[in-house]
Amino acid sequence: MLAFIGRLILMLVALSAIRSAIRFAQNFFSSGPGPVARRSGPYPLRKGATLLKQDPVCGAYVSGDASLKRIVRGEVIHFCSPECRDQYHAG
Ligand SMILES: [Zn+2]
Repeated sequence: MLAFIGRLILMLVALSAIRSAIRFAQNFFSSGPGPVARRSGPYPLRKGATLLKQDPVCGAYVSGDASLKRIVRGEVIHFCSPECRDQYHAG
């Protein structure tokens, strides 16, 4: 009887461990906005990946990491392509 109870407790512990492991995996793989996961997640967010800047020439949104940058009158302007950058200077 004692062995049975011990096995039952072990099973419950294993179950809760599996459940928390599944929750951890869901937090890890979810790309959608999860406010709780974001606040308590152990993995830091990549700031550059979510930082979008608008190209003033064509209106496209470009990642701050991937954009072409030009400083115009002390302000950083982001462009999606060299064509847009050149057009901005021409206009
Ligand atoms: Zn553009």
